[in-house]
Amino acid sequence: MRNSTAFELGLVIVGGLGSALLIGLGLGWAESLLIGLCVLLARHAWNLFRLARLIRRQHRLVPPFPSGIWGDIYRAIGQYQQRGRKGRKRQLRFFRRFREAANSVPDALVVLDKSRRIEWANPAAQVLMDVHWPPDDGKQLSEVFDHPELASYIVAGEYARPLEVAPTHNRSIMLSIRVAPFGERKKQRLVVGRDITKVFHLNLIRRDFVANASHELRTPLTVITGFLETLADSAQTPAGHRRPLNRMQHQAERMRSIIEDLLTLSRLEMDEQAVEVGPVDVPCELEQIVADASALSSGRHQFQIEIDSDLMLIGKDSELRSAFSNILFNAVKHTPPGSQIQLSWAQTASGPVFRVTDNGPGIAPKHIPRLTERFYRVDKARSRESGGTGLGLAIVKHVLSRHEARLAVASEPGQGTSFSCHFPPASTLSAIQLERQRQQAHQTSSLAATQPSV
Ligand code: ADP
Repeated sequence: MRNSTAFELGLVIVGGLGSALLIGLGLGWAESLLIGLCVLLARHAWNLFRLARLIRRQHRLVPPFPSGIWGDIYRAIGQYQQRGRKGRKRQLRFFRRFREAANSVPDALVVLDKSRRIEWANPAAQVLMDVHWPPDDGKQLSEVFDHPELASYIVAGEYARPLEVAPTHNRSIMLSIRVAPFGERKKQRLVVGRDITKVFHLNLIRRDFVANASHELRTPLTVITGFLETLADSAQTPAGHRRPLNRMQHQAERMRSIIEDLLTLSRLEMDEQAVEVGPVDVPCELEQIVADASALSSGRHQFQIEIDSDLMLIGKDSELRSAFSNILFNAVKHTPPGSQIQLSWAQTASGPVFRVTDNGPGIAPKHIPRLTERFYRVDKARSRESGGTGLGLAIVKHVLSRHEARLAVASEPGQGTSFSCHFPPASTLSAIQLERQRQQAHQTSSLAATQPSV
């Protein structure tokens, strides 16, 4: 920089000397100065136009550079260009590596723009989702991967749970689809389709095996229970055999409960969504459940019941009955005599909530996340003693998930436990609406009965 300033100063001095020479040769001082300035200006103009042309044509600025300040400018721009080129090359290399990595992923990856049009897809998307890229570039995903469930899943924007679908172009595979919003205001979406055919079939086999085994065990168990009952009731049974017979009866009853719960779980697993939903008179169901819980408690517990008699649900009555009774019976089974049990069924700002709170022994925090696992018990021996199967809360979880509801557990060891089921507001039904629906159903059936049959 210092060199170029000296060079520019030198130029001015040489120009001055040149002008002085011209004055000495007889030219006027003003003319001489003008000529000197014109020479300097012409040099600047030439360098400026040359630079503008090189930049316009996107030429690389390489040495030799002009001398003086223009040399500095050319060099600085040349260095900028070089840095930019290196950055671009690095980006390109990274982009290529990223593309190669994305192309080698066995899951289908499809990038959608904010209008849900296909922007990019990897080769696996071709096999798994029938999305060919680049030919399908700019098309709506629903045009290519025709699946109504996926279309509404993407529009709904609720991606916490993956969607399991059998693609229409290949019914033999099963996909688990996840959607991740990204980009500006999370308007773009990355759709990830994973082939879960093997796991799905294994699950089916496991489910069928459990259902069949439970079913097969039912009949022999009924026979055994029948004979045990006959033996226990018979006057000819020796007195010394009564105790073991009673224990055998107790264990047979436990086996029957486990089989029934396993069959219930298998039935619940058959379909993710609750089928044949309808209005459920929850207050009426709860009345019966509370009566059963009182019978189970035989006066050993104090019950406090608060039920909103106007609050109904849309759902499956038998499933809801099973979930609510499991939670309430647990409070009876897992708390000592004299404990208080509060049951409430009420509308809240976030939807209807069923809650059972007790002041029993409580549950340590480490057990809470595992309570809904099959056969998970906090205290195995005590649970068996109280006739628990270890499947109750697994059933509750399944029932709630089929009703788009969730289970929340709050517990303090030594203080008590609270189980609550949170239902979505959309599943609410008032008593008036329920009555109206019943009347409509009644009118339709009586109308059908009066129609002459063809
Ligand atoms: P179980 O048939 O053993 O009751 P569940 O799946 O219904 O099986 O419950 C799992 C475990 O959670 C129970 O074994 C018990 O240890 C614990 N549990 C459930 N409810 C309560 C409660 N109200 N208070 C204390 N522990 C409970």
